[in-house]
Amino acid sequence: MASPLNALITGSTSGIGLGIATAFAAEGWNVMLNGFGDPDEIEGVRAGLEEKYGVKVLYSGADMTKPNEIREMIAEAETAFGQLDVLVNNAGIQHVSPVEEFPEEKWDAIIAINLSSAFHTIKAAFAGMKTRKFGRIINVASAHGLVASPFKSAYVSAKHGIVGLTKTIALEGAEHGVTCNAICPGYVKTPLVEKQIPDTAKARGMTEDEVIQKVILEAQPSKQFVTVEQIGALAVFLCSDNAAQITGAAHQIDGGWVAH
Ligand code: NAD
Repeated sequence: MASPLNALITGSTSGIGLGIATAFAAEGWNVMLNGFGDPDEIEGVRAGLEEKYGVKVLYSGADMTKPNEIREMIAEAETAFGQLDVLVNNAGIQHVSPVEEFPEEKWDAIIAINLSSAFHTIKAAFAGMKTRKFGRIINVASAHGLVASPFKSAYVSAKHGIVGLTKTIALEGAEHGVTCNAICPGYVKTPLVEKQIPDTAKARGMTEDEVIQKVILEAQPSKQFVTVEQIGALAVFLCSDNAAQITGAAHQIDGGWVAH
């Protein structure tokens, strides 16, 4: 494994992506952040990581619904770092609604951001990884990549799709030193989860507190949220030499959710 590694994490201005980017920077790896948000806040995060860990931290504002912007982002990372060793497909959005009322534009956006963007990033980064005989691709799927919940038709479809993409890319990279794995978190307290509480309350006719206790934490036998630090540590391990034979797998980190 070359050191330091150069990593790109999509959707890393917030939540899980930022947790993974921070874990990588703490390993001494260079990272490219991506995602939306207030420009001053993003610059603060970027400069803060760079200063704290003494690594190169770049930022791309590429929109994961736009294939041309995705291709430019990968090219920018390869040029700035010299090579891209680690690709984490993490950007994602959610929408909660019964299927008969599910807005068509939300379906399209969720499939584009949560699934198709990973195809486009992998397509652009794969040749370089194969040539160098080293690559680590991590797709942040979800427990919803393995099991369903009602009212999340687009999200569950995209997440099941990305688990399939993970297996396919693992097979294509297997003889070239390129691994591809999915991480399947249960509930993590990030803006994505906080934003869906009111909609879930509406869809299920519950109060918001009931949603946290009876829907969210009820799904996780541990009755605890997963943390972004725990996911970051798993991502670091999946990039290590000891993980060279781990590929094509969907790694649950969900307090036991999918076990029952
Ligand atoms: P979050 O809302 O905190 O972060 C999402 C990130 O994606 C942000 O940086 C946002 O700017 C970025 N993003 C959204 N649309 C984008 C676009 N079009 N182009 C570029 N970036 C875009 O959410 P999170 O909870 O950290 O989710 C991250 C990933 O983890 C998602 O794929 C999500 O499905 C998955 N996940 C989350 C949970 C959870 O409980 N929070 C559980 C399982 C899986």
